[in-house]
Amino acid sequence: MDPDKCCESGCTPCERDPVGSEPRDLCNYIDGEFVCHSSEQWKNVLQPATGERFARVPLSTRTDVDCAVSAAKKAQPSWGRLSHSERADWLDKIADALEAKYEDIAALESKDTGKPISLARAVDAYRSVANFRFFAGLIRETYAGQREHFEMEDATNIVVPKPVGVGALITPWNLPLYLLSWKVAPAIGMGNTVVCKPSEFTPMTADLLMETIHEVGLPKGVVNLVHGDGLGAGSPLTSHPDVDLVSFTGGTATGAKVAAAASPIFKKLSLELGGKNASIVFDDCDMEKTVEGVTRAAFLNQGQVCLCGSRILVQSGIYDDFVDSFVNSVESMKIGDPSDESTQLGALISAEHLSKVESYVELAKQEGGEILTGGYPCLPKDFEHGNWLAPTVISGLSVDARCATEEIFGPVVTIHRFESEDEAITIANNTRYGLAGSVWTSDLEKGQRVAEDIDTGMVWVNTWLHRDLRTPFGGVKDSGVGREGGRWSLGFFSEPMNICLKHD
Ligand code: NAD
Repeated sequence: MDPDKCCESGCTPCERDPVGSEPRDLCNYIDGEFVCHSSEQWKNVLQPATGERFARVPLSTRTDVDCAVSAAKKAQPSWGRLSHSERADWLDKIADALEAKYEDIAALESKDTGKPISLARAVDAYRSVANFRFFAGLIRETYAGQREHFEMEDATNIVVPKPVGVGALITPWNLPLYLLSWKVAPAIGMGNTVVCKPSEFTPMTADLLMETIHEVGLPKGVVNLVHGDGLGAGSPLTSHPDVDLVSFTGGTATGAKVAAAASPIFKKLSLELGGKNASIVFDDCDMEKTVEGVTRAAFLNQGQVCLCGSRILVQSGIYDDFVDSFVNSVESMKIGDPSDESTQLGALISAEHLSKVESYVELAKQEGGEILTGGYPCLPKDFEHGNWLAPTVISGLSVDARCATEEIFGPVVTIHRFESEDEAITIANNTRYGLAGSVWTSDLEKGQRVAEDIDTGMVWVNTWLHRDLRTPFGGVKDSGVGREGGRWSLGFFSEPMNICLKHD
């Protein structure tokens, strides 16, 4: 084998453009080295706010995927033999090194996704560091003492959490490093080695993570990264015979393709998919806090969070007052330059995505909806080529309308009136999705009762996106399969083996 190549099929070391230079060409990260991809194909990385190109991402192929999987496979046995606490120490080292880059993470994420810098700092940078630290602590705590065991009269059963093997970790563009770190930390913490495939729209902080992992000196091959699109890189990764598990976060249609590729060879599979979540507002809610909470749930990250409350159901007694206050609250949000500290709403991820969202607003008009607020924001000339849409509120649609049941994944919400608790639950469940939801009421008993009848994986009462990392995260119906988060992540990223010791 050519010593310059990291595997038989060949990937050569690449000269990285210095961080901060623009436009930058990114490299794959395989077997502890930044390497070139095997094709001549690149995709421009554009700033959503301005449309300007600031990087190019490799469009990798099956050859690159083969290289990365083979590096991961080679590294797995020795990594898997480390103790849980040794691997937890590595997670802490990564957390410390990432924390030193807190502002770089926030700035890169804001530029790459178009989200406000304040949000990128408070949510993306914060959670990326927290994910590594949280799983380090949880793994230490869970596996410090005696192994889980079950005594019989004449035998002892000991449960050994073994690594699964090589993991494929595939992530979307809305919360790039937040979601990648949510997978990498428990996956390697439990002894697996991984190949990451971040979204081709937002590759910058995945590159930063590889740089960080390289700096801390993580054993080579434990974390590998292949850039590229779904067809060229994602698909060969999910169907690769040496990949033992796939953790995928993205759209429902893509999730179905991933499941079809992974199932015939019985890979362990976790799918975190789309959502069309209801915010249910009862007559007895605290109006001010509810308007604030429902506005945040509707439009955080320009409505591009899988958990966003994009259907707002309001009980008839307060419907008119609530709608007035809600529209005022939405119109007071500051939209514009993502790098401005006071900005609350930024740009949408891409021109194609903006067109999709706009087409839903047009469809709403055809379906008989009334646009209560929305349109295009008036912005300085620098942003004329960006992907902008003001937060849009639509009333008057049937609860069966496409805009009220399909995932739009943008700053567009529909608002509906209901009379009774039962009707609210029926409307909330009237969609193929089942990810999350929120209930707003001063009666916590009612809040819990309603929450339990909603067919989703998560419901918040009088709050939204209030996350405790120990809790299960995931959806039902078309929102996914399986749970991650806390001990559910540790379970997914390991295989419990039972050893039964017969006593004399
Ligand atoms: P997407 O499905 O288009 O892409 C997600 C990832 O899959 C990307 O890295 C993409 O390159 C890759 N991919 C595409 N085709 C593939 C294939 N055939 N095989 C393997 N990989 C493939 O999703 P997106 O547009 O990046 O993200 C938005 C979607 O993600 C929304 O539907 C949103 O609800 C969902 N999402 C869900 C969660 C959750 O936790 N449930 C969180 C965030 C986003």
